[in-house]
Amino acid sequence: AANRKFHTDDTVIRIGRGAFGGGHFGVIAGPCSIESNEQIIEVAMKVKEAGASFLRGGAFKPRTSPYSFQGLRDDGIRMLLEAKKASGLPIVTEIMSLAHYDLFADVDIIQVGARNMQNFEMLKELGKCDKPILLKRGLSSTIEELLMSAEYIMSSGNTQIILCERGIRTFETATRNTLDISAIPLLKKLTHLPVIVDPSHATGIASLVPPLAKAAVVSGADGLMIEVHSHPAAALCDGAQSITPAQFASLMQSVSALAEIE
Ligand code: PEP
Ligand code: MN
Repeated sequence: AANRKFHTDDTVIRIGRGAFGGGHFGVIAGPCSIESNEQIIEVAMKVKEAGASFLRGGAFKPRTSPYSFQGLRDDGIRMLLEAKKASGLPIVTEIMSLAHYDLFADVDIIQVGARNMQNFEMLKELGKCDKPILLKRGLSSTIEELLMSAEYIMSSGNTQIILCERGIRTFETATRNTLDISAIPLLKKLTHLPVIVDPSHATGIASLVPPLAKAAVVSGADGLMIEVHSHPAAALCDGAQSITPAQFASLMQSVSALAEIE
């Protein structure tokens, strides 16, 4: 069970040299979407050099409009695997349907996005796999609902779950979402699972990413997920919230003064 009552020691999730939980701090970085071989390899090398532990990139994108870029799908996964090989970084990418599950064979961490946090049948199936699951908080989901979704995965056997606070919907429209900082210490109290923060989707604004990333670290987060793009203005998705590799490198310097990144 996800509840601390039944399991007081922190769950540690380790892949290669990266780890989350139990005092281990991991950083996942990369573009919102995989756009080309060159794009993903370039950003992979740069975030690795800056000290990231994991590479992210979306191949299946949950866009609000069906007419927006939907991701490169199978081709995107293939490009991400090449970037994994070139950089040596383990990879994280989002699954949107179990019909695509076979494409995720060499993916290191499977992401369940905010929009699928309550796709219970998918959670039950992912509970049968032996890969860590990055479970993002739903757009309007409570802490209790997030924990119950983790419980769905655990109930079929998979206890390797990383929770991600990525901002929630509030009355405020100046930011894309509102980062629920209180969720971090609260979740850490309620569950032994690692808790990471995604300040990129929480704010939608690149300049707000570094200060909120630092706030997440000092609030007790076990890691970060940051969108990084070499040319944010030209990004096919989420350019406004993407920081450049240089900005990411500078953020990593501040973060490493606050936490030991693995
Ligand atoms: C993402 O991380 O690519 C993403 C779509 O985030 P979320 O599910 O939190 O909106
Ligand atoms: Mn995004």
